Amino acid sequence: MASLNQIDVLKQQFSDFLRRKKYRITQERINILDRIAEIDDHFSADELYLHMNGQGDKVSRATIYSTLDLLTQCSILTKHRFQGESAHFELSSRMPHHDHLICTECGRIVEFREESIDAIRDRVADRLGFRPLHHSLQIFAVCHSPTTCVHNTSE
Ligand SMILES: [Zn+2]
Ligand SMILES: [Zn+2]
Repeated sequence: MASLNQIDVLKQQFSDFLRRKKYRITQERINILDRIAEIDDHFSADELYLHMNGQGDKVSRATIYSTLDLLTQCSILTKHRFQGESAHFELSSRMPHHDHLICTECGRIVEFREESIDAIRDRVADRLGFRPLHHSLQIFAVCHSPTTCVHNTSE
Protein backbone atom coordinates (compact mmCIF):
# COMPACT_ATOMS: atom_id res chain seq x y z
CA MET A 1 0.00 0.00 0.00
CA ALA A 2 1.12 3.55 -0.73
CA SER A 3 2.39 5.32 2.40
CA LEU A 4 0.31 8.03 4.09
CA ASN A 5 2.68 10.68 2.90
CA GLN A 6 2.39 9.57 -0.74
CA ILE A 7 -1.40 9.63 -0.51
CA ASP A 8 -1.32 13.19 0.81
CA VAL A 9 0.86 14.25 -2.12
CA LEU A 10 -1.56 12.62 -4.56
CA LYS A 11 -4.56 14.27 -2.89
CA GLN A 12 -2.84 17.64 -3.15
CA GLN A 13 -2.03 17.00 -6.81
CA PHE A 14 -5.65 16.01 -7.48
CA SER A 15 -7.09 19.06 -5.67
CA ASP A 16 -4.75 21.35 -7.61
CA PHE A 17 -5.83 19.77 -10.87
CA LEU A 18 -9.55 20.10 -10.04
CA ARG A 19 -9.10 23.72 -9.01
CA ARG A 20 -7.14 24.56 -12.17
CA LYS A 21 -9.77 22.92 -14.38
CA LYS A 22 -12.61 24.53 -12.40
CA TYR A 23 -14.09 21.21 -11.26
CA ARG A 24 -15.58 20.99 -7.80
CA ILE A 25 -13.36 19.46 -5.12
CA THR A 26 -15.79 17.11 -3.40
CA GLN A 27 -15.15 14.84 -0.43
CA GLU A 28 -16.51 12.02 -2.56
CA ARG A 29 -13.83 12.48 -5.20
CA ILE A 30 -11.05 12.63 -2.63
CA ASN A 31 -12.48 9.58 -0.87
CA ILE A 32 -12.33 7.61 -4.13
CA LEU A 33 -8.60 8.32 -4.33
CA ASP A 34 -8.17 7.04 -0.75
CA ARG A 35 -9.93 3.79 -1.61
CA ILE A 36 -7.82 3.34 -4.74
CA ALA A 37 -4.67 3.59 -2.61
CA GLU A 38 -6.09 0.82 -0.38
CA ILE A 39 -6.56 -1.54 -3.32
CA ASP A 40 -2.89 -1.23 -4.39
CA ASP A 41 -3.41 -3.28 -7.56
CA HIS A 42 -4.96 -3.01 -11.01
CA PHE A 43 -8.72 -2.62 -10.88
CA SER A 44 -11.69 -1.99 -13.14
CA ALA A 45 -14.38 0.61 -12.46
CA ASP A 46 -16.76 -2.17 -11.44
CA GLU A 47 -14.27 -3.67 -9.01
CA LEU A 48 -13.77 -0.26 -7.39
CA TYR A 49 -17.53 0.22 -7.20
CA LEU A 50 -17.95 -3.15 -5.42
CA HIS A 51 -14.98 -2.45 -3.12
CA MET A 52 -16.35 0.93 -2.06
CA ASN A 53 -19.93 -0.16 -1.56
CA GLY A 54 -18.66 -3.20 0.36
CA GLN A 55 -16.91 -0.73 2.72
CA GLY A 56 -20.19 1.11 3.21
CA ASP A 57 -19.40 4.07 0.91
CA LYS A 58 -22.54 5.04 -0.94
CA VAL A 59 -21.12 6.07 -4.26
CA SER A 60 -22.71 5.79 -7.69
CA ARG A 61 -21.13 4.17 -10.73
CA ALA A 62 -21.45 7.49 -12.56
CA THR A 63 -19.32 9.25 -9.92
CA ILE A 64 -16.74 6.46 -10.05
CA TYR A 65 -16.51 6.62 -13.84
CA SER A 66 -16.17 10.40 -13.95
CA THR A 67 -13.61 10.46 -11.11
CA LEU A 68 -11.50 7.74 -12.75
CA ASP A 69 -11.55 9.82 -15.90
CA LEU A 70 -10.33 12.92 -14.01
CA LEU A 71 -7.62 10.94 -12.18
CA THR A 72 -6.40 9.61 -15.53
CA GLN A 73 -6.41 13.09 -17.10
CA CYS A 74 -4.07 14.40 -14.42
CA SER A 75 -1.83 11.27 -14.69
CA ILE A 76 -2.41 10.10 -11.12
CA LEU A 77 -3.88 6.95 -12.65
CA THR A 78 -2.63 5.01 -15.63
CA LYS A 79 -5.33 3.42 -17.74
CA HIS A 80 -4.70 0.04 -19.37
CA ARG A 81 -6.68 -1.82 -21.96
CA PHE A 82 -5.65 -5.39 -21.27
CA GLN A 83 -8.42 -7.35 -22.89
CA GLY A 84 -12.18 -7.61 -22.90
CA GLU A 85 -14.61 -4.79 -22.36
CA SER A 86 -13.44 -2.93 -19.32
CA ALA A 87 -10.36 -0.79 -18.82
CA HIS A 88 -8.07 -1.39 -15.85
CA PHE A 89 -6.47 1.35 -13.82
CA GLU A 90 -3.55 1.59 -11.41
CA LEU A 91 -1.85 4.38 -9.50
CA SER A 92 0.95 5.68 -11.70
CA SER A 93 3.18 6.00 -8.62
CA ARG A 94 2.62 2.40 -7.48
CA MET A 95 5.63 0.94 -9.21
CA PRO A 96 8.34 2.24 -11.49
CA HIS A 97 7.74 1.57 -15.15
CA HIS A 98 6.70 -2.02 -15.70
CA ASP A 99 5.02 -4.18 -18.29
CA HIS A 100 2.22 -6.70 -17.98
CA LEU A 101 1.63 -10.33 -18.74
CA ILE A 102 -2.04 -11.26 -18.94
CA CYS A 103 -3.56 -14.73 -18.88
CA THR A 104 -6.22 -14.92 -21.59
CA GLU A 105 -7.94 -17.75 -19.72
CA CYS A 106 -8.30 -16.48 -16.15
CA GLY A 107 -7.42 -12.79 -16.55
CA ARG A 108 -4.53 -12.94 -14.03
CA ILE A 109 -2.23 -9.94 -14.46
CA VAL A 110 1.46 -10.25 -13.61
CA GLU A 111 3.80 -7.25 -13.60
CA PHE A 112 7.40 -7.46 -14.63
CA ARG A 113 10.47 -5.36 -15.42
CA GLU A 114 12.78 -6.43 -18.18
CA GLU A 115 15.55 -4.04 -19.05
CA SER A 116 16.32 -5.61 -22.41
CA ILE A 117 12.87 -4.43 -23.55
CA ASP A 118 13.91 -0.86 -22.76
CA ALA A 119 17.02 -1.39 -24.86
CA ILE A 120 14.93 -2.68 -27.80
CA ARG A 121 12.60 0.32 -27.48
CA ASP A 122 15.53 2.74 -27.56
CA ARG A 123 17.19 0.97 -30.49
CA VAL A 124 14.03 0.85 -32.62
CA ALA A 125 13.13 4.48 -31.95
CA ASP A 126 16.68 5.57 -32.68
CA ARG A 127 16.84 3.63 -35.93
CA LEU A 128 13.59 5.21 -37.14
CA GLY A 129 14.67 8.72 -36.16
CA PHE A 130 12.63 9.15 -32.96
CA ARG A 131 13.51 10.04 -29.40
CA PRO A 132 11.96 7.35 -27.18
CA LEU A 133 9.83 8.52 -24.24
CA HIS A 134 8.15 5.44 -22.82
CA HIS A 135 6.46 2.27 -23.95
CA SER A 136 3.71 -0.11 -23.01
CA LEU A 137 4.01 -3.83 -23.61
CA GLN A 138 1.38 -6.46 -22.93
CA ILE A 139 2.13 -10.14 -23.32
CA PHE A 140 -0.97 -12.31 -23.69
CA ALA A 141 -0.39 -15.87 -22.57
CA VAL A 142 -1.92 -18.70 -20.54
CA CYS A 143 -0.90 -19.84 -17.07
CA HIS A 144 1.06 -23.11 -17.13
CA SER A 145 -0.65 -25.09 -14.48
CA PRO A 146 -4.21 -25.64 -13.33
CA THR A 147 -3.18 -24.64 -9.81
CA THR A 148 -2.37 -21.09 -10.89
CA CYS A 149 -5.06 -20.87 -13.57
CA VAL A 150 -8.45 -22.28 -12.72
CA HIS A 151 -9.35 -22.42 -16.41
CA ASN A 152 -6.25 -24.34 -17.44
CA THR A 153 -6.85 -28.09 -17.51
CA SER A 154 -3.87 -29.10 -19.62
CA GLU A 155 -2.05 -30.96 -16.84
ZN1 LIG B 1 0.83 -2.65 -13.51
ZN1 LIG C 1 -4.64 -18.13 -16.08
